[in-house]
Amino acid sequence: MTQTHTTDVAIIGAGPVGLFAVFQLGMLKVRCHVIDALDAIGGQCAALYPEKPIYDIPAYPSIDALDLVKQLEAQAAPFAPVYHLGQQVTRLIPPPNLPPQAGGGSELLSSSQEGETLATGNWQLETSSGTIIHARAIIIAAGCGAFGPNRPPLDGLEAYEASGAVRYLVTRKDEFKGKHIVIAGGGDSAVDWANVLAPDAASLSIIHRRDNFRAMGDSLDKMNALVTAGKIEKVVPYQLAGLEGENGQLSGVIVSTLDGQKRTLKADYLLPFYGLSMDLGPIAGWGLGLEHSHITINPASCETNQAGVFAIGDIATYAGKLKLILCGFSEAAMAAHKIRNLIYPDVAYHFEYSTSKGVSA
Ligand SMILES: Cc1cc2nc3c(=O)[nH]c(=O)nc-3n(C[C@H](O)[C@H](O)[C@H](O)COP(=O)(O)OP(=O)(O)OC[C@H]3O[C@@H](n4cnc5c(N)ncnc54)[C@H](O)[C@@H]3O)c2cc1C
Repeated sequence: MTQTHTTDVAIIGAGPVGLFAVFQLGMLKVRCHVIDALDAIGGQCAALYPEKPIYDIPAYPSIDALDLVKQLEAQAAPFAPVYHLGQQVTRLIPPPNLPPQAGGGSELLSSSQEGETLATGNWQLETSSGTIIHARAIIIAAGCGAFGPNRPPLDGLEAYEASGAVRYLVTRKDEFKGKHIVIAGGGDSAVDWANVLAPDAASLSIIHRRDNFRAMGDSLDKMNALVTAGKIEKVVPYQLAGLEGENGQLSGVIVSTLDGQKRTLKADYLLPFYGLSMDLGPIAGWGLGLEHSHITINPASCETNQAGVFAIGDIATYAGKLKLILCGFSEAAMAAHKIRNLIYPDVAYHFEYSTSKGVSA
């Protein structure tokens, strides 16, 4: 059944930055719905590195990525955001020439309810599940778009992905205890996970096409210490060449040098960390200013080239942009203040600290 909702702001993306935008908007009495293609909130933090500590969130010397998501969810909760998960936003339709709506409050109407009058917001978005949302403003907090891992081109890969023997992220490191693990890649993720999983693994090999890993200095020192201790085998210069096993049960990973010398490594799991593919998906077709698959914005307001459409977090770009969660938080605050003026054009704005006004929905 198609559901139609009307709200002040529709936020595309429930990553850390989209979640913080809910709080910032809520403090300004602006209500929102949040849509995410994934089944859970948290964006990259929840999907890609839930158990990794983040060290550069202000006031948290260290916080695991999933804990950060839980804190952001709790901070947004007083403002009762409506989440639509497991749905990709596929269409964004510009507003018809209608007078502005009054702000505040969200309502849910079902299109099957004959005779109901829909309060039509200015923008309309549609999701892959057929949900329609009318909103006065749109915030695109879609990270790197419909993100997915870069997958190695190996025969029979799908069967091993389906069984979980080949994975692109680690959600519970306990599963890997006592197992034979092969990690592929030369960046931070490959090296970090090798360091985390090696101490409890039966064996751990890290494959890279050259003996020059692009990870942080501390991580490399740690990996080299584990190599010396016999907990990690560096398999260089090799690349993935094939998978061995039956019925999705992996038993070995075949690796090859550029001149074709092959080895088979014992493996229960293969974890390829070749980075994320950045695909804006439907967002690329919405007429927004783009630069290298990012949305260009005015950094003072986070507004895009379309009035009423804002972009924040990893997907937004401007001169000097830093792709950090803390920068996304600041962008969320700036967009929220600009949007508040769209929703309540006739109500004078008086700046107040949160310590003065408290948190009230
Ligand atoms: C391994 C790793 C370690 C990191 N460590 C740090 C760190 O220490 N410090 C730091 O500041 N940053 C770190 N980052 C980067 C940080 O995770 C990102 O900057 C942050 O997640 C960006 O948040 P976001 O909300 O903008 O986007 P994302 O977290 O990418 O969330 C965007 C969401 O939008 C959804 N989406 C996209 N398109 C659509 C659509 N059309 N319809 C519906 N939903 C859609 C996606 O499904 C996704 O859930 C790290 C990243 C990785 C991968």
